[in-house]
Amino acid sequence: MNRLSTKRTGSLLIVDDNEMNRDMLARRLQRSGYHTVLAESGKRALALMEEERFDLALLDIAMPDMDGIQLLKILRQRFCTNQLRIIMVTASNKSATIVEALNLGANDYLTKPVDLPVALARIRTQLSHKWADEELEFQRTLLRCQTETSLDGILLVSSEGQWLSYNQRFLNMWDLRREDVENWTEEQTIQWMLGKLDDAPGFLATMVHLSEQVDESSSQELHLKDGRTFDCYSAPVKNLESLHYGRVWYYRDITERKWLEEAQEEGEAALRESEERYALAARGANDGLWDWNLRTNSIYFSPRWKSMLGCEESEIGDNPEEWLGRIHPNDIARVRQTISDHLEGRSPHFENEYRMLHQSGSYRWMLSRGLAVRDEDGNPTRMAGSQTDITDGKVVDALTGLPNRLLFLDHLERSHSRSRRQKNAILAVLVLDVDRFKVINDSLGHLVGDEFLIALSRRMESCLRTCNGTTRFDDKHLLARLGGDEFTILVEDVRHVSDVIRLAEKLTKEITAPFELGGQEIFPTVSIGISLSSSGYKDSADLLRDADTAMYRAKSKGKARVELFDSDMRERAVTQMQLETDLRKALERGEFQNVYQPIVCLASGQIVGFEALVRWRHPQRGVLGPAEFIPLAEETGMILSIGKTVTQEACQQMSSWQARFRECTPLMLSVNLSSKQFVQLDLANQVAEILRESGLDPESLKLEITESLVMENVEIALPTLLQLKALGVQLSIDDFGTGYSSLSYLHRFPIDTLKVDRSFVSRMEPNGENLKIVKSIINLAHDLNLDVIAEGVETADQKAQLLDLGCECAQGYYFSRPVEAAAIDSLISSSIALVRSG
Ligand code: C2E
Ligand code: CA
Ligand code: CA
Repeated sequence: MNRLSTKRTGSLLIVDDNEMNRDMLARRLQRSGYHTVLAESGKRALALMEEERFDLALLDIAMPDMDGIQLLKILRQRFCTNQLRIIMVTASNKSATIVEALNLGANDYLTKPVDLPVALARIRTQLSHKWADEELEFQRTLLRCQTETSLDGILLVSSEGQWLSYNQRFLNMWDLRREDVENWTEEQTIQWMLGKLDDAPGFLATMVHLSEQVDESSSQELHLKDGRTFDCYSAPVKNLESLHYGRVWYYRDITERKWLEEAQEEGEAALRESEERYALAARGANDGLWDWNLRTNSIYFSPRWKSMLGCEESEIGDNPEEWLGRIHPNDIARVRQTISDHLEGRSPHFENEYRMLHQSGSYRWMLSRGLAVRDEDGNPTRMAGSQTDITDGKVVDALTGLPNRLLFLDHLERSHSRSRRQKNAILAVLVLDVDRFKVINDSLGHLVGDEFLIALSRRMESCLRTCNGTTRFDDKHLLARLGGDEFTILVEDVRHVSDVIRLAEKLTKEITAPFELGGQEIFPTVSIGISLSSSGYKDSADLLRDADTAMYRAKSKGKARVELFDSDMRERAVTQMQLETDLRKALERGEFQNVYQPIVCLASGQIVGFEALVRWRHPQRGVLGPAEFIPLAEETGMILSIGKTVTQEACQQMSSWQARFRECTPLMLSVNLSSKQFVQLDLANQVAEILRESGLDPESLKLEITESLVMENVEIALPTLLQLKALGVQLSIDDFGTGYSSLSYLHRFPIDTLKVDRSFVSRMEPNGENLKIVKSIINLAHDLNLDVIAEGVETADQKAQLLDLGCECAQGYYFSRPVEAAAIDSLISSSIALVRSG
């Protein structure tokens, strides 16, 4: 490349105190095409030099003030000979001065009177040298840049075998240090290089061959013992006269390209079976790569793979332990298992997520995928794949930016094993759950719900920070989001249990301050459960589980509380869990059965209907009453299926009784509805379906609902009640008097019957409070045109009192306990007989 124009002429500065000399010279030079500038003194010359760049200066030696020699000295301090050529002009007899000037860096001289053709020739020579030097310098710089930034390792060797030049990349590729190369003989260095090769004799043979055939180029692939592959290219170097000068060697690391090519080649064969290999190879370009030679049991790890673990290229060898040995103790068994599953052909590919120890001492989450390459017999010879760092996606909760459950458990595990080693160190785990978060979400929308969770996280962080320096990863607190509205805090180095409780109380208090969101004020409360490692836990995850149990306990005790876990809770939790599984099985096995309690007309003593009450025939525990399983069934949602079964069975039963006892007024069936069943939007349809299937007249079915159910969900309750009413079904309010004392709703709802709660009936004393209550309920019901059924009548006195008060119907042990369907026939028969005889 020649960047210099051949037309280049140059600009000259002529310094002479004699005006005539100056002008004469300038005119001739201008005519020859040079740009010339004139200076009458050294001082002026220096000033001009500040403004303009000259290629050459002609300096008159004899000048007043500053002579040519002085000016020369100054100029040479500022400009090297490549930047400015200097020609001295002097009287012919001043040879000593000329020698001095040449020593001081002048490039040539002219004697006075100036012979113009000689002057022009000398100027031209100086300028062309200058430009040649410039070009050379430029080429050299360019070459140095190219060599040093080259991806290839470059080595220049003279024809005598002397190493003339090499770049840093060459040293890196061959694991050489500059001082080694400088101190060793060429033979020693070559030995070193040969020692790294799989096929040293082959490469040596090439070198010997080339030393004889100096004009040949060479190209070959070198396989290194550490698994790398170099593309090696060499070419003769000749000087301008075509004389042999030496040889240049280029080495390029093509390991990854090679691997991708191979993976693709092999992939093409395997592609027919699976597209995955190709995807893997393509993906591999961005991830760390590994290639496991199963025959030699060595692994090639790509530089990227190593840097993902914070390691330098040379820090990781090719032993499989470099990988497996860095995997978290809790993950390694799983990883080994998935590897052998794939190698032994039990899985189509290897894929696993695991933690790996980073150079920083922390664990990073990695996703690794790979495929085995098999020989004709199907035995794996190699397995290759990629590794991606998925830590960020793994450990951070996207909404709040807090650590997530995984990271928390990871951290908890480490702290826990540390605290087990140091005898007295206690850990505490807090689980926080927002009370009625669903209400916030449902009423204000999910966006506000999300905003609230973020704001709540920030508030908790700052609360913890004021307790102790900073939050999150500091050594005392770790706040994480478990999911939904559930958060957890790990507290380390607990001295006193009271400290933790105080912290929890502080959190509850600060969280209760209102949040301003979406133009609304939200007053949240949280329930907090705490567990402490002092109770001797083996597994750290149990700490979280127990804090969770304690949190549920706090909720059930009325929310906005702090509860410390104790072992009773664990037992309760275990029984509950057991019960839940049992419930599921019971439903499948049809272990739920109804008993029926007669409802009697007080005036006639005749049975007017039955209330269906569910029982669980537990294979081990015997017959269980609703109190023992309905609350859990409601919590788990299983009440929906149970409720449906109960209603179906009862309707069928009643339908068959009505058919049998056609002669008497149709018997009524009362069925209890749980509030959970009530929020199903298709409840009315479900009931209609059951009625159709059983053939029971809707008028014969009475659904019992509780006051609280109606009151808590007025918006949902009313339309559903109206739908049910529209079917022709009757409705009654159960346990009346125990719930809301507001009576205003009664006329708003399409109710037929009130059931007076047992607690009033059983404690009716003459002129007592309860008697008054029962009396007013009966009056109220009659005012509103409703029937009354008294519950829990156990004595003849109670019966008589109720009859006195004008109560129509009653049920209770006095008349009959709830009985199995089989026993009902005789009850009805005797009831009919009673009426006939009366
Ligand atoms: P409830 O609806 O108030 O039912 C009446 C309860 O009082 C029954 O208890 C019954 O056995 C009991 N009882 C009746 N007469 C007397 C008496 O003279 N003295 C005393 N001490 N008790 C009497 P049970 O069967 O244990 O049911 C308890 C509660 O469980 C029921 O109260 C009802 O709320 C609920 N329940 C029962 N079956 C179902 C059902 O199929 N679905 C739903 N959701 N809840 C049900
Ligand atoms: Ca009832
Ligand atoms: Ca009741």
